[in-house]
Amino acid sequence: MIDQGYFEDKLNGERERAVKTLGWAESEFKNHDMSIQEAMPDSADNEIADAATDTLTMQLDSAYQRRAAARVNAIDGALQRMRMGQFGTCINCGREISRARLEAIPWTPYCRDCAQDLQALD
Ligand SMILES: [Zn+2]
Repeated sequence: MIDQGYFEDKLNGERERAVKTLGWAESEFKNHDMSIQEAMPDSADNEIADAATDTLTMQLDSAYQRRAAARVNAIDGALQRMRMGQFGTCINCGREISRARLEAIPWTPYCRDCAQDLQALD
């Protein structure tokens, strides 16, 4: 049985860190006269590429920001599954995700086997 309270704290802590990362990146983007929307993962990739071609630094900032935004999304998904009582269950095969895997990647929606099959990015 999964200790949800423990993982909820862990997820909230990780979310706070990722949001802080985004805040930092957002201010960096403001310095470059670039809006955060242009760097979000749901924008078209070619838009990001167009906006990020100026300097190598800009490209790194963009990738950094996209990773942090993707992390927040993944954590929100995990917290939502927790509210629905599905946390710790693989969304692909329905088997239990191992405790060790959840300790390492608490926001993962996949068990280790499915993550390998799907080559899902943690
Ligand atoms: Zn699975």
